[in-house]
Amino acid sequence: MAITKKQSAELAKQVFEYAPAPEAVDHVKIQPRYGLFIGGRMVDAHSKKRFPTINPATEKTLSEVTDADEVDVDRAVKAASKAFDSWARLPASRRARYLYRISRLLQERSRELAVVETMDGGKPIKESRDVDIPLSAAHFFYYAGWADKLEWAFPNRKPKPLGVAGQVIPWNFPLLMLAWKIAPALAAGNTVVLKPAETTPLSAMVFAEICMQAELPPGVVNIVTGAGKTGSLVVTHPEVKKVAFTGSTEVGKLIQRAIAGTGKRLTLELGGKAANIVFEDAPLDQAVEGIVNGIYFNQGHVCCAGSRLLVQESIAEPLLEKLKRRLSTLRLGDPLDKNTDIGAINSRAQLEKIQGLVESGVEEGAELYQPECVLPERGFWFPPSLFTNVSQSYRIAREEIFGPVLSVLTFRTPAEAVEKANNTPYGLSAGVWTDKGSRILWMAERMRAGVVWANTFNRFDPTSPFGGYKESGFGREGGVHGLLPYVELN
Ligand code: NDP
Repeated sequence: MAITKKQSAELAKQVFEYAPAPEAVDHVKIQPRYGLFIGGRMVDAHSKKRFPTINPATEKTLSEVTDADEVDVDRAVKAASKAFDSWARLPASRRARYLYRISRLLQERSRELAVVETMDGGKPIKESRDVDIPLSAAHFFYYAGWADKLEWAFPNRKPKPLGVAGQVIPWNFPLLMLAWKIAPALAAGNTVVLKPAETTPLSAMVFAEICMQAELPPGVVNIVTGAGKTGSLVVTHPEVKKVAFTGSTEVGKLIQRAIAGTGKRLTLELGGKAANIVFEDAPLDQAVEGIVNGIYFNQGHVCCAGSRLLVQESIAEPLLEKLKRRLSTLRLGDPLDKNTDIGAINSRAQLEKIQGLVESGVEEGAELYQPECVLPERGFWFPPSLFTNVSQSYRIAREEIFGPVLSVLTFRTPAEAVEKANNTPYGLSAGVWTDKGSRILWMAERMRAGVVWANTFNRFDPTSPFGGYKESGFGREGGVHGLLPYVELN
């Protein structure tokens, strides 16, 4: 039974209305402007250029940050180079102590960090509070444990740090990506220059304060803000020995070209177009929750999002009906409200990209479903959306939309599911929903994806390696695998 827009509006009305429950912001002190974190303190930049960072839910300016130039990046890399020898020679248990300290401070300042992350990036507070910040602290805690056990991580080898790591991160999980990058680098004895994304620099600025509170030796971590140009200065600096990048495949390729032949080590964590595959024997209500979590979590700004739903033909109709009903109960609005499920789109540019791809889906002949949903007047918003009648050749089935938009395809046999799931230039993640353990293993063996979730989706843990195949990049972050890119093994 198809569910109409009118029915969806009625369903939405039946949803229990919650009173507003905004998170307090008065405990958060965002500075009106920030310098750069170089050599253990906040310094004025050589560059006089600054840019505002705004709250995408209100379009109000939160702060101004520096657009670091060549001189600034050089200072940061020099500070990291200078700090390297003594940091690498420090007894490993002392390095661990600093990482534990950072982890504890992240926990202590978690409420503040959750609010900053939500205001700067637009994600619902319940996600930054329950996912981003605790996982960031867990990453430092986990890698602190490895710092004095590197010889056990790589038995019969002599792991040595590489030097200065240049790290560039995106805007979808600002603090978590910082933790994924900095924690293993430091645990292995490297020093770091990190550039956060242009639209979400603020949690990195709070992290700079945390480094100072932890009395981390000067220069071990340096943070330079700026746009893509600053990122390219970081990764191409001759004293940077290791480059770690998370972001778009396009920029990943640019970086790979820019540093080819320099001997720099490189790991790339790029885009994805993951298949979330539901078999007819799956528990449908749980699968619906998994599909929602797979694509509408963080407004779909997730590289491993389950953006292609592959559903077995025999259950497509009941599953889609349940899914549409569930969509009409999602709450879109103020990201600081604890009941909000869908927050703001990170930037105007990203909103336009989503709108363009959704238009292309309609033009190519797919059928768009969006629940009745009032969008706030200011800020950047996009309703949770799903497309049926999708052909594999449509752009919405091939390109990373990076928004709350699901493309639904069907299949009849497991072999067809594998074929369709792997029919993408990406290979970051996949999900399988079925009652049969043997089928999970059969599917996992055949899927070209770095992570395959079974009867769940978007689960992360510091002990578990994460990374892709094909155009999703190479190298792994998390787990003992995440140490490997930061050491030389003799
Ligand atoms: P980018 O890949 O451009 O941004 C990622 C990071 O790289 C940012 O810090 C960016 O800086 C920086 N950067 C940009 N150009 C260069 C360069 N030449 N050298 C070094 N660093 C650079 O992603 P966008 O923000 O432009 O998003 C575009 C699309 O990419 C999205 O729509 C989405 O599809 C995809 N994306 C995928 C992500 C993933 O995790 N797989 C994450 C983010 C985006 P700055 O932000 O200041 O430009």
